[in-house]
Amino acid sequence: MKRVYNFSAGPSMLPESVLKTAAEEMLDYQGSGQSVMEMSHRSKVYDSIIKGAESLLREVMNIPDNYKVLFLQGGASSQFAMIPLNLMNGSGKADYVLTGQWATKAYKEAARYGEANAVASSKDKTFSYIPKLDPATFTKDADYFHICMNNTIYGTKYHTLPETGNVPLVADISSCILSEPIDVSKFGVLYAGAQKNMAPAGLTVVIIREDLIGKARDITPTMFNYQTHADNDSMFNTPPCYTIYICKLVLEWIKNEVGGLEKMKERNEAKAKLLYDFLDQSKLFKGTVVPEDRSLMNIPFITGDEEMDAKFVKAATENGFVNLKGHRSVGGMRASIYNAMPIEGVEKLVAFMKKFEEENA
Ligand SMILES: *Cc1c(COP(=O)(O)O)cnc(C)c1O
Repeated sequence: MKRVYNFSAGPSMLPESVLKTAAEEMLDYQGSGQSVMEMSHRSKVYDSIIKGAESLLREVMNIPDNYKVLFLQGGASSQFAMIPLNLMNGSGKADYVLTGQWATKAYKEAARYGEANAVASSKDKTFSYIPKLDPATFTKDADYFHICMNNTIYGTKYHTLPETGNVPLVADISSCILSEPIDVSKFGVLYAGAQKNMAPAGLTVVIIREDLIGKARDITPTMFNYQTHADNDSMFNTPPCYTIYICKLVLEWIKNEVGGLEKMKERNEAKAKLLYDFLDQSKLFKGTVVPEDRSLMNIPFITGDEEMDAKFVKAATENGFVNLKGHRSVGGMRASIYNAMPIEGVEKLVAFMKKFEEENA
């Protein structure tokens, strides 16, 4: 068996040890005589899986007690509607920073329910930077302030958070959750689709401060009301059982094999540095993001020549480096190097890029 280095933006690589454990437990989960795929979500054995996943997430992310952890479905994209339906309940206004496609989708969805204000945008330069924010331009009585923390498609990341005072900060952390420590207490809501850094697709994790629950608009569908899921420990209906199980294994990997999020961050910084350092001195390739806003997870780069880009992507694929093609909206290349990408994967990619450069300069 030969496994490739998969640079996909999501769904993406999972730690090999997690996949092995899942394979070993596939037919008989810990003596239960069943696969996790077949279990009742109301069974005792499954209860220990979902409770275990939640308590590990709380421990690894250091989530304060006054926050609820919800395991939902519908992807991060459903949160674009759930956030305004549940939170746009005071002034009916919310601020959004437009740092890419996901942030813009979230903004457009909110505009269907209330007054969504775009306080800043980096669209003028193809979202290659995080705009400087001036709190004087923020809506004083906004119900919340929304950011997309790591912009998966463009490869930018907030390195400092906006100062929103008493206005709850809401962040889409789909592509950076668990990549480094985060101070949860600075946020009203954090949400993430699991398929980048946590698990296979199918699970959406919401971490929400308790006082923000219970104020949804009357029209809110029952399934879109945070209260529904908070009151039922994410068991109002059938949760994405198997995905939550894999998420638990990933959290065990972070806790026991990696050694927590500080260590995870060190690993991720070392990986990203290898690639950024190479790009900064390369004569063929160059990164597209301003250095101060660079992401640790998604690294877009170009040669400046579309034919050369295509040639590189093809050669890379043939050599076992797959999914390096950039997002269809930006072109070029993008290496997504999430938690599960081993450092050898990045070392080998850089060596391959060097060789390609020598042969094509
Ligand atoms: C992938 C991604 C999304 C979309 O997630 P779905 O789970 O497919 O809805 C939203 N925001 C960010 C930052 C993403 O990376």
